[in-house]
Amino acid sequence: MTAMNSANVRLTVPYAKIEIMSEKLHITAYSQSELADLVTGIGEPKYRAKQIFKGLHERRLRDFEEMTDLPKAFREKLELAATASTLSVESRYVSEDGTRRFLMKTHDNFPVETVFIPTENRDTICFSSQSGCPLKCDFCLTAKLGLLRNLTAGEIVEQVIIVLNDVYGVGRETPHGTNLVAMGAGEPFMNFENLIKALGIMSEEEGLFIVPNRVTVSTVGIVPKIYEFAALDKRPHLAISLSAPNDELRSRLMPVNKRWNIDELMTAAKAFERSLRRGERFTFEYVLLGGVNDSDAHALELADLLNKYELNRVKINLIPHNAAEQLDYHPPEPEQVDRFKAILESRGVSAYVRRPRGRDIYAACGQLAAKETPNLMQLASVN
Ligand code: SF4
Repeated sequence: MTAMNSANVRLTVPYAKIEIMSEKLHITAYSQSELADLVTGIGEPKYRAKQIFKGLHERRLRDFEEMTDLPKAFREKLELAATASTLSVESRYVSEDGTRRFLMKTHDNFPVETVFIPTENRDTICFSSQSGCPLKCDFCLTAKLGLLRNLTAGEIVEQVIIVLNDVYGVGRETPHGTNLVAMGAGEPFMNFENLIKALGIMSEEEGLFIVPNRVTVSTVGIVPKIYEFAALDKRPHLAISLSAPNDELRSRLMPVNKRWNIDELMTAAKAFERSLRRGERFTFEYVLLGGVNDSDAHALELADLLNKYELNRVKINLIPHNAAEQLDYHPPEPEQVDRFKAILESRGVSAYVRRPRGRDIYAACGQLAAKETPNLMQLASVN
């Protein structure tokens, strides 16, 4: 879509928080009911909202020109006032295991990373909630970027549309549905409002129809937001990144622990557990760093911690660290990963080992921004 001359274009914006990009409305951030307000506000019939919404989200079109069920004059009006296409793909890598990693760029030149992970039964898209990240987890490469900016709801939705179109083709159905995980760059709970707005749009039946039950949000432990998240009517699943069984070690690895310590985090987790639906569990993620947090003693301490807070409906995902040259950590020994898991299980804690995906293209956990970081920083510094 080309840059516009907005001088002659006037649209009433019904919602103060709707995104306006380069003087165009970012229409991917509109729910169907917001679109209805928008189109009726400019004298168009309400059913146009449904046509636009389906075009954007069900057919995954990114250009109004292709929405040929809309009258040409209306398409032109939309083209002048709005855009569905604000992210561009800068690079794309395909791993030998089928994982795809996308480096995108916002309209104002901030980097966005998104990963597609195919598995036999379902595909998963790992999206970013922020460009960069303000938190400084010591084992994570994204932390090196710092926070560049929050992503808007429309940018979060657009990441998913771009990836689905790349993998399946525009508008094509996904063969076995799609799961979403908010585990890319950034801390989702520090961009809470946009995250929830985006997930609401993506869950709409006449659009992507990715319901909350197919979504997992991962936080490092922004404690007040865990309570807020628990209280949501239709909420996705929750994963909490723990990665250490005591405050001394966790504060060293994850400085957020100095703000909300393990006791506060576990108390919030217990409250969250009470909000679980029938049969639902939640997850603690534990990045295993060789020689740092992966000893037998750490495993015992972790099991004791969960048992102390009587967290029963929880599982632990053990994530062997993905080595990157820029970080001073190394992966755990495979035998130690097995021992760690066995110790947890012997204490009644469910534990799983997450197989690393896309390591060769720096798409694995904690690796985002590992490759082409200079390029990303260059993009970021344009502002
Ligand atoms: S692990 Fe997550 S929260 Fe921590 S620095 Fe990396 S992106 Fe941010």
